[in-house]
Amino acid sequence: MDDGVLYISEKFSTSAHNCCCGCGGKVVLPLKAGRWTLKNRKGKISLSPSVGNWSLECQSHYWIDDNAIRWSVQFTTAEIAANRAHDAKVLEAANQARRAQERNFWQRLLDRVKSWF
Ligand SMILES: [Zn+2]
Repeated sequence: MDDGVLYISEKFSTSAHNCCCGCGGKVVLPLKAGRWTLKNRKGKISLSPSVGNWSLECQSHYWIDDNAIRWSVQFTTAEIAANRAHDAKVLEAANQARRAQERNFWQRLLDRVKSWF
């Protein structure tokens, strides 16, 4: 991958880029509920929430906002742990919502099939 390029795969709902600090770390961000949201405003890309590269040695933290990098504060070890716990809760809530939606789909399908008999 080239530095300064955000690679986006809509098909695989994911993005990838080289860490913006220049350390050479590869950053892969899933674009799905509970993870990152990509906004495209007239070709200007923003990702939300911020990118915290806690598993890279640099532990850089930044926002990708309207095609620009906006550096954020460095997190302490305790803040990284709290952030990871928070992210896990957000992801679990999104997964629960998705599973509930899937259950509703199968229940509606089952109800439809039952109504035929
Ligand atoms: Zn880095």
